[in-house]
Amino acid sequence: MSDDVHILLAQHAKTTELFGVDFLPLGDPSSTLIGSLNIDDPAQSKSKPKREAVASPPPPDFQTHEPQIQPVTCRELQSCYEHLDDPQAKLDALRARYELDAPHQHFNAKFTNIVFGEGSSTAELVFVGEAPGEQEDLTGRPFVGRAGELLEKMIGAMGLSRQTVYIANVLKTRPPNNATPTHQESLLCAPYLMEQIRIIAPKVIVTLGLPASHLLLGSRSPMRSLRGHWHAFPPTDTSIAMFSGDEGNPLPKVELMPTYHPAYLLRSYTPENRRKVWADLTMVMEKLGLGPQ
Ligand code: URA
Repeated sequence: MSDDVHILLAQHAKTTELFGVDFLPLGDPSSTLIGSLNIDDPAQSKSKPKREAVASPPPPDFQTHEPQIQPVTCRELQSCYEHLDDPQAKLDALRARYELDAPHQHFNAKFTNIVFGEGSSTAELVFVGEAPGEQEDLTGRPFVGRAGELLEKMIGAMGLSRQTVYIANVLKTRPPNNATPTHQESLLCAPYLMEQIRIIAPKVIVTLGLPASHLLLGSRSPMRSLRGHWHAFPPTDTSIAMFSGDEGNPLPKVELMPTYHPAYLLRSYTPENRRKVWADLTMVMEKLGLGPQ
């Protein structure tokens, strides 16, 4: 056996062990995690276009497009919580303000629950996904469907738990047909995400998939060139108003690692993709001083 094959097999065994699955994802799909998880959310799996592989819509130009409806400013949002001390109380106040503003009213009338985000209000690590799916819409909790199961395994493999990290999304309501958030939708909801990040002030943000990565980096680059590298949040080389912040209250400086969305990983559960995600998460663990699990 060549060295390369040896290395690949060892990496595969490691990711397999760490993601808590015990199969070789190369044969009959029914024997893979996808088969064993009893897919019940077609919108998150088979029928969802392979956004990152082939069918990505052209990424929005966050630098030049102006939204038709102006989003609330971060400064306005801060007024709802700045009199509070406790970060969880601040997040609760921000959520109440989101419910009052209901920015989704401009683009989405079809959802069951708002999925604002959950986890530790003092987390060192924040995951940011795209938008709630069916299970999230039904429960009001982020990442509880199939993609969430995988995310939970990834978090567990890092030696953390859902309770010790914070999980949020760009959109707080499930888009009809699980559509990818548009530029306008993302910008209308972005200030609430910015304020979640400001309140929590984590050390590291992991963006899951392109919509979150593009929004938080003000970037249009493909995932293959974004992932595997540290990025500065807020980005410095952008003219986007909400990143510059107000004079006295700049956004906290956070290290940001983009990686593949777990739903994409489930659709394309190859050793190569698993190795890449695990490499990204390993960099995050090193940054957070988490030892090998
Ligand atoms: N996909 C996301 O991006 N977020 C969720 O909460 C669930 C699935």
